[in-house]
Amino acid sequence: MAGTTSTDPDPVTVARAAFASGRTRSLTWRRAQLEGLVRMLAERGDDIRAAMAADLGKSDVEATLTEISTVSGEAKLALKNLRRWTADRRVRAPLTLGTARATIHREPLGTVLIIGPWNYPFHLLFMPLVGALAAGNAVVLKPSEVAPACSKVVADIVPRYLDTEAVQVVEGGVEETTRLLDGMFDHIFYTGNGPVGSIVMAAAARRLTPVTLELGGKSPVWVDSSLPVERVAGSLAWGKFANCGQTCVAPDYVLTTPELAEPLAAALGAAVRASYGEDPLHSEYYGRIVNERHAARLAALLPSGRAVVGGTAEASARYVAPTVLLDVAADSPVMQDEIFGPILPIVTVADHDAAIDFINERPKPLALYAYTNRAEVREAIIARTSSGGVAFNTVMTQLGVPALPFGGVGPSGMGSYHGERSLVTFSHERSILRKLPGPDLTTMARPPFNPRMRKMLLRG
Ligand code: NAD
Repeated sequence: MAGTTSTDPDPVTVARAAFASGRTRSLTWRRAQLEGLVRMLAERGDDIRAAMAADLGKSDVEATLTEISTVSGEAKLALKNLRRWTADRRVRAPLTLGTARATIHREPLGTVLIIGPWNYPFHLLFMPLVGALAAGNAVVLKPSEVAPACSKVVADIVPRYLDTEAVQVVEGGVEETTRLLDGMFDHIFYTGNGPVGSIVMAAAARRLTPVTLELGGKSPVWVDSSLPVERVAGSLAWGKFANCGQTCVAPDYVLTTPELAEPLAAALGAAVRASYGEDPLHSEYYGRIVNERHAARLAALLPSGRAVVGGTAEASARYVAPTVLLDVAADSPVMQDEIFGPILPIVTVADHDAAIDFINERPKPLALYAYTNRAEVREAIIARTSSGGVAFNTVMTQLGVPALPFGGVGPSGMGSYHGERSLVTFSHERSILRKLPGPDLTTMARPPFNPRMRKMLLRG
């Protein structure tokens, strides 16, 4: 493993021993870890911002909002609610048990592995970490090697603020992750692409280790004429071009009517100029593609339609212009896989019914968006489609509601997290039943049965 030698203790063994010591179970330990995380984000903000700039060309403001403030907010929310979220819950026991007390007790799972991707390298490692720590687990963090500066910062700062045994960082790529997946974990939480998700799940299956898979896919947007096109474009352009479109819940493509396609594309062009100026290459707020390979992959998608905004790329500079494509055929290359970059194809369909059919002919998305003020369209979308989440008249902001579970469905993922749901994801909800002295009708169900009792029991 990167940075370790054969004589170093195995990080998984160390984490397991820390969990076995019992200390991670106490609320005092959990609070100290969450407070440490909040402190780390406050004190190491400059390191985080510098790494984000190096790996993704991310502006300081965007890095602060998406990688620091959100995680810090999540940790503070967990701190505030820790006692309530971890309290035993009394539930009703049936009268036949007489006097009995039934409770649900949330216990930590043990030692969990969190594997992060490169696109939000801190956020997507630390948001699940909040839930794992709040639930009292030991954790092994595996940052993505594709964002090397961020991975290095994670490995550097985490041991300075968190329990150095119970929270381990293992850097590395496929080889190191494959080795980790051979280890004994009580849960694996993976964020990344679907094909690797199935590798993770297959490895977990060997030990029947439960998994949470936070995957991606093509998240569609339906736009109709019931909202001002400028308002739609401003919101869409922000969601699509933030982090250069390298966001799992970024709007992937737009479905709209033929009449609306041109005006919408023009308004998107205006929104791009308003945010990033005439030449986004020189905007301090426009990022970069994570590496040349991904930039070249995106450049190859540009001929899929008529570029009415952007349309240029410089793979060696990891630059792909904010692009809007018209005249895009449903079977064109850009409409095959998740784009994961700043290219927004607009595909025309007759109406919202045709848009729903189009969506349903494809894998269930992580996010589904619609800009509409028509209640019947909203209801039709909710009733006739499925996706991890759905948001109307906005994109991506659903992630800012901690009470909404975040996760996919089918090929876009399994399991969810954020807020209290994270605590549930990283806990086992253990059933506890305690029979108290007193009447107990279940004794009547013990053999032998007299004819009257037999008749009664057979009636159910
Ligand atoms: P990535 O290449 O960084 O891979 C993710 C992790 O998997 C890394 O830690 C990497 O080391 C590990 N990995 C890669 N290949 C592996 C292998 N063969 N065996 C074991 N481990 C391996 O990131 P990515 O997959 O390119 O991330 C982008 C994808 O993630 C997109 O599809 C995006 O939609 C999805 N995503 C989903 C969410 C979500 O919350 N649902 C968030 C961000 C990204």
